[in-house]
Amino acid sequence: MPIPATIPLNADLHCHSVVSDGTLSPEDLAARARANGVQLWALTDHDETGGLRRAGAAAQAQGMAYLTGVEISVTFADTTVHIVGLGFDPDNAQLAQGLAATRDGRGERAKEMGAQLARAGIGGAYEGALQFVGNPALISRMHFARFLVESGRCQDTGEVFRKYLTEGRPGYVPHRWARLGDAVRWITEAEGVAVIAHPARYKFSANEEFALFSEFKAHGGQAVEVVTGSHSAAEYLSYAALAQEFGLAASRGSDFHSPAESHTDLGSLPPLPDALTPVWTLLADRIRHPARHLVPHWAPDRA
Ligand code: AMP
Ligand code: MN
Ligand code: MN
Ligand code: MN
Repeated sequence: MPIPATIPLNADLHCHSVVSDGTLSPEDLAARARANGVQLWALTDHDETGGLRRAGAAAQAQGMAYLTGVEISVTFADTTVHIVGLGFDPDNAQLAQGLAATRDGRGERAKEMGAQLARAGIGGAYEGALQFVGNPALISRMHFARFLVESGRCQDTGEVFRKYLTEGRPGYVPHRWARLGDAVRWITEAEGVAVIAHPARYKFSANEEFALFSEFKAHGGQAVEVVTGSHSAAEYLSYAALAQEFGLAASRGSDFHSPAESHTDLGSLPPLPDALTPVWTLLADRIRHPARHLVPHWAPDRA
């Protein structure tokens, strides 16, 4: 039985742990989500499902409903686009292989970033970034950003991404990630739902955005993040309209990385605009250990 769309569920379906570039463990994230009133939670580490077993167990311990999650790095129109996967089988071999291939190359890229920063007068950045890495297979620009803050080059990670590590700035090394169609296929063939993450972040022209949404949909993508920590209130409304135009369900997620760095805490965003189909209505049968107080509303056959 589908979850009625009218329930204003506090769902947070996007955040990061130490398994990628967050600073909290899956257990600490689950506890923080629960304390903030989250009822349905997903951990979506970059290109990596290694934290999901712990996340699922922690959600269960917290009495919180849970979906598997991941955020895949994709290159589309020469731009890095992120595709979130939700509710997939975490043991699916094709998805695991695809993610491993996507992670591959991060180590070399990081060394090149370090070399480039050294040429710009900032020594020891690769080694410095490594100090912040929780998972050696997943060194990200965020780890370099933490090094640049800790070493006093910038006040915060926001300043880092304005001055370094982005196109045209020191420390930017372009990288070719997964193809859009592959990422969507890995997720959907593992019985998950693919979601375009934080679309306003890409700064696409109207034509490029139309191409992203149409190609995503043609590959089998089913949802888009509308309410995210990366969007303004005006962007909630413009992407709500785009979701309806393309017949996509809507997702909600903070993209929380760290108590010290993230301006949007877990579970703290406004609800999805009315009239959208929440992505979790497509995933009712894949929600694990639903919170007891929610069961009579949306999973009566499991009560
Ligand atoms: P990577 O996957 O190594 O390219 O690192 C990208 C990560 O950097 C994102 O997942 C964010 O955590 C972080 N980040 C924060 N602000 C920005 C920004 N303005 N541009 C790109 N990345 C950012
Ligand atoms: Mn990140
Ligand atoms: Mn992202
Ligand atoms: Mn993210």
